[in-house]
Amino acid sequence: MTQELHIIGGGMAGSEAAWQAANAGVQVVIHEMRPETGTFAHQTGNLAEMVCSNSFRSDDDEQNAVGLLHWEMRAAGGLIMSMADRHRLPAGGALAVDRELFSQAVTAALQDHPNVRVEAGEISALPETGTWIIATGPLTSEGLGAAIAAETGQDRLAFFDAIAPIVYADTIDMSKAWMQSRYDKGETEEERTAYLNCPMDRDQYEAFIDALLAADKTEFHEGETAGYFDGCLPIEVMAERGRETLRHGPMKPVGLTNPHQPEVKAHAVVQLRRDNALGTLYNIVGFQTKMKYGAQTEVFRMIPGLENAGFARLGGIHRNTFLNSPTLLDNQMRLRSRPHIRFAGQITGVEGYVESAAMGLLAGRLAAADIQGRTLPDLPQDTAMGALVHHITGGAEAKTFQPMNVNFGLFRPLDGIRGGRRGRKDRYKAYTDRAKEAWSEWLNAHQLDSVD
Ligand SMILES: Cc1cc2nc3c(=O)[nH]c(=O)nc-3n(C[C@H](O)[C@H](O)[C@H](O)COP(=O)(O)OP(=O)(O)OC[C@H]3O[C@@H](n4cnc5c(N)ncnc54)[C@H](O)[C@@H]3O)c2cc1C
Repeated sequence: MTQELHIIGGGMAGSEAAWQAANAGVQVVIHEMRPETGTFAHQTGNLAEMVCSNSFRSDDDEQNAVGLLHWEMRAAGGLIMSMADRHRLPAGGALAVDRELFSQAVTAALQDHPNVRVEAGEISALPETGTWIIATGPLTSEGLGAAIAAETGQDRLAFFDAIAPIVYADTIDMSKAWMQSRYDKGETEEERTAYLNCPMDRDQYEAFIDALLAADKTEFHEGETAGYFDGCLPIEVMAERGRETLRHGPMKPVGLTNPHQPEVKAHAVVQLRRDNALGTLYNIVGFQTKMKYGAQTEVFRMIPGLENAGFARLGGIHRNTFLNSPTLLDNQMRLRSRPHIRFAGQITGVEGYVESAAMGLLAGRLAAADIQGRTLPDLPQDTAMGALVHHITGGAEAKTFQPMNVNFGLFRPLDGIRGGRRGRKDRYKAYTDRAKEAWSEWLNAHQLDSVD
């Protein structure tokens, strides 16, 4: 008996998942609510509509993790990449496209595929039987969002992200920063030294507050109401409430002693907390922000110890429906409590068109294999695809989980390669070489038994 794969949402992830599964020989139904039911950001009824920028970011597959993801998706015959290449616009090293032609081409390719059917209409309940992928994105409809939250628990489905900037650990100046938990709290040495602290004197703090207040900020989109709570106010909003507010909030200097200058009491302290099990990434605690990206880099590099910081991602606050994937999904992106349902795309806690499409690619292949009774070899963690899915389904800290872009901080370090900024070029090349080899091997290993 042939079983169909049902995909809810025909965005970046749903479209790619459908293409991959259909090409493996599975019958696919895409359920897309647009144009009947719209969102505040989408303008058309096309599949894979780009809601804002028309760029898939860097196309450099040797020195950039997004470019590497492009490479991996092209190698896997990805629809999003092939249509992006076809409708490419000049944009230097970035892959920018004509958004209208791009999404029309994705729509046509899927509508013309003999194994794909597109059904219009919103799905607002969790399916009880069959094989499903939910790829409804950051603007998942209210009804379905409520059904998911009822299954996962309200506290494991977020409707806004509150992203604090994330710094590459090896770009932090440890001659100024130090490791210590407030009041040395914790049972083990690891817990007592869980935070990385950056001290400020009075002048540094005052200059930092001035810069925060003066920085360019991003406005919320129309329809994207600013529903953030007091618990996750942007730092610049805290600073607007009073110059001392941050010193009594995320920058309070109490319970910490700077071993570089034990006799000097810091006026304020910025704390960073480990963001992944590898210990390669640290987030700046409580520093969610709506400052523009350029302003963030400038302002955060004023923090002593972060003068040369490299940012794996910058901060933000957006309307964004996403799961606490590290606790809810298994390593094949299946909902643990209902394994016949997979999630893909931005709702899994990745961020961006490329990352979302990549998670769709993977979910489509995995779901097709399930339906056909095939087992895919384990996904290699040293690929961009593997590093990202490993992060969201287990590598990330579940308690503080926020959406993530692909970046080299998610990759397992390589032995014998220099760390820090100086060794960066060689290191990135070594990461991308290792990833390409592993990804090609993975594809070849199951290409053999895929059904045409
Ligand atoms: C305002 C805004 C601006 C953004 N700007 C950028 C940017 O510039 N660059 C970038 O890389 N990323 C941006 N993003 C993130 C972007 O949305 C994702 O990167 C990408 O579109 C996510 O892909 P996806 O397939 O997970 O979701 P989407 O592409 O949003 O696709 C989800 C699909 O599911 C449909 N759907 C939702 N609920 C249901 C339902 N119940 N039943 C049936 N269908 C349903 C939706 O109509 C939609 O077509 C932005 C997001 C928002 C909200």
